[in-house]
Amino acid sequence: MSTYLDYNASAPIDSRVLDCMVDVYKNSIGNADSRTHGFGERARSIVEDARKQVATLLGISSDEVFFTSGATESNNIAIRGLVDYGKKNGKMHIITTAIEHKAVLETVKHLSENGFEVEFIKPGISGRVNASDVLDKVREDTLLVSVMHVNNETGIIQPVKEIGDALNQKDVLFHVDATQSCGKLVDEIRGIKYNMLSFSAHKLMGPQGVGVLVLKKNRYKLPPVKNIMYGGQQEHGIRPGTIPVALVAGCGKACEIASAEYKENAKKAIDIKKSVLQELDASGVEYSINGDPEYCVDTTINVSLKGVSSEALMISTKQFCGVSNGSACTSKSYSPSYVLVAMGLDNDTIECSLRISWGAGTNKDEAIEGIRGLLDVAKQFSL
Ligand code: PMP
Repeated sequence: MSTYLDYNASAPIDSRVLDCMVDVYKNSIGNADSRTHGFGERARSIVEDARKQVATLLGISSDEVFFTSGATESNNIAIRGLVDYGKKNGKMHIITTAIEHKAVLETVKHLSENGFEVEFIKPGISGRVNASDVLDKVREDTLLVSVMHVNNETGIIQPVKEIGDALNQKDVLFHVDATQSCGKLVDEIRGIKYNMLSFSAHKLMGPQGVGVLVLKKNRYKLPPVKNIMYGGQQEHGIRPGTIPVALVAGCGKACEIASAEYKENAKKAIDIKKSVLQELDASGVEYSINGDPEYCVDTTINVSLKGVSSEALMISTKQFCGVSNGSACTSKSYSPSYVLVAMGLDNDTIECSLRISWGAGTNKDEAIEGIRGLLDVAKQFSL
């Protein structure tokens, strides 16, 4: 049996989440925006309960939670939704990092082709951008700073707390893509000062196809984000379209579970990381960790196995475990990871890099067995 170690691409659904969704699908028919019958009212109350569960996890008010189809859509709304405001107010400058997910990078690229100026901050070999490199770029006409909390390829935590604290004093909006940290770095997210925050439910063992955009109120006012789609008043017009009640209920349930279990999950993750590192040490394969381990989450290792092409290794070890060498969103054909390139790693190291990621549903013994199988093959490749 092969062990799934690609949680950063998508985590399996928690069975309690699935049970909750099946119950909604079976017993709660209707449209949450139907006013004329009890079916609609029941669907609405399920959606509002889920909104509260998300708000509790994030430590915010439930009227700051907007359901979307996932982090890609949330990032698009958070960024493209500011175009009118930026143009009207002469704020046409955006700062982001070179290691954001494509859902941010391609969105700001689109804006740069439409009159906005975008600057990309590189992280250096640590995989972590310097807060001062970001803040030094802020100008009078800066509209937005968008920085991810945790990088999906390296697991490196970015200085969003420091950036948010500094921007809070300024007339600049701050967006955080928290897709890889939501439900894991729970206390840290609660402490960040941001205006917009995005995540997808499936990264915290919720269903695929639903996510959240948080719009934080400032003196009772939402940030000036406008809808990018037209067609209805759902989610206060920010995200038109029939609310997928069961998916939203699943998202809420995943957040409720994360709120209750994140501390216990964090301990488990540390234990698994220790074991994976022990296996690497014991294997005899020469390796280097990509990104500064001091800033890495306990659910990810990005490692280069010297002289072992990761493409070849992954194909030959599918029977042991499922890992990856980059973001699933860019993995249809091989091209060197733009994240590792931005960090300044050399081509050989990048070609040999693997991302191993796990989470609350991972069984430590199965993880060790999978990694052992992979490393046995890697050892033969490196001889
Ligand atoms: N941002 C980050 C940091 C991610 O890791 C991902 C998923 N790989 C996304 C955004 C996009 O999420 P989704 O594909 O669920 O929309």
